[in-house]
Amino acid sequence: MKLTPDQVEVKSELREALIKHRAAILEASTGFGKTTLTAEILKTTQSAWFVVHRKRLFKDVERTLEREGIDYGYIAAGRPYVAGHKVYICMARTLANRIDDIPEPHLVVIDEAHNVAAKTYDKIVTKGNFRLLLTATPERSDGRGLGEYAPVMVSAPPMTWLIENKRLSPFRYFAPSNIDRKDLKKQGADFSNSSVDDAFQKSTIHGDCIEHYKKHADGVTALVFCHSIKAAQETAEQFIAAGIPAASLESSIGDDEGDEVCEALAAGNLQVVTSVNMVLEGYDLPAIGCVIWKRPTDSLIVSKQGNGRGLRYIEGKTCIILDLVGNYTRHGLPDRVIDWNLEGKKKRDTEANIAVRECKVCQACFSPAPECPECGAPVVVEERVIKQTKGELAEIKQHEMQERKKERGKAQTLDQLVQLGKDRGYKNPKFWALKVYKGRK
Ligand SMILES: [Zn+2]
Repeated sequence: MKLTPDQVEVKSELREALIKHRAAILEASTGFGKTTLTAEILKTTQSAWFVVHRKRLFKDVERTLEREGIDYGYIAAGRPYVAGHKVYICMARTLANRIDDIPEPHLVVIDEAHNVAAKTYDKIVTKGNFRLLLTATPERSDGRGLGEYAPVMVSAPPMTWLIENKRLSPFRYFAPSNIDRKDLKKQGADFSNSSVDDAFQKSTIHGDCIEHYKKHADGVTALVFCHSIKAAQETAEQFIAAGIPAASLESSIGDDEGDEVCEALAAGNLQVVTSVNMVLEGYDLPAIGCVIWKRPTDSLIVSKQGNGRGLRYIEGKTCIILDLVGNYTRHGLPDRVIDWNLEGKKKRDTEANIAVRECKVCQACFSPAPECPECGAPVVVEERVIKQTKGELAEIKQHEMQERKKERGKAQTLDQLVQLGKDRGYKNPKFWALKVYKGRK
């Protein structure tokens, strides 16, 4: 397949980086076509491993190699190893187990390379003369960068560009109901299930899901991300009870069964699939026109993967994203440009460019604008003003500040001011009160 001009540019940048450093990361969001681009590189490579970590991801690679007429074999459980192929599609686990018996290739390509920190990859990443890491989110789940695996990163055009150029679908984003985020507690890389259960118990979100779906995306093929298998099953049941054909997809089921569910979804026999993380990767179904978040996540990777499932391009589609758990407050909108770097989260400014407005009338979320692009309601910027001071971020709640000013104004005498200072827990209320008092005169 002929590469697009942007792909050609990225490819030559990658080639240069590989020649110079022998290892490089390609950061490219869904829709860029990183498999297609990689296939072009494979054409001129002596031998290569294309390493994936889920069987489901095989298909996309197979299809591309097939289309491009590239000779390939397998290193995967249940598939016999036949020597002499140019490219091997490898399951990471199988490859790690057999790594000493199989000749090293010229180039090692690692797909979904944010997983590279997993033990399975220890032996794989040291092999080959050249190494290419592919990912949309070049960061390990613990927030560390991928710098230890490759010294250079090449970035594909951002999602906003891909949307403008019709390689990804545009989206509309609504955050119609919300859980109390104060209840969420981290456990490992994400929120613990029990804390999400607690947060849900205090909200009415379960009942709301169907209602919001019907309001914003009635009849549209949808994926619902839930925080637990139980929640996914219950949500599917609720959809069914509302007359909407739905099924839940769990991590315990095999790929074949997963395929059946996907086929039913593609054929329109199913309208909604609920899941925890089964459908995050490798389910590229252009028909998906709605993504619903009932899973609060602290992981930018999960958030990006989930939203990406709805953005596959088809003419005329606008994906509806219903964020019932406020994930946008942590990760911004799906097309937020992220300044990835090799050092990881510590270095990149995680909050600086999360500038999202939520319409109080229709709950649409959008980039700062004077009025809501959905309903035209004027945007009242009251609660969140983000100020940047010396590289440090200070979040000032304007509304709260005004309230405090009023409160201070009510304290007219010096004694009243001292009392207010005490109530607010100031270390030296008298000194503060005197300062305010003198300032008034
Ligand atoms: Zn609005």
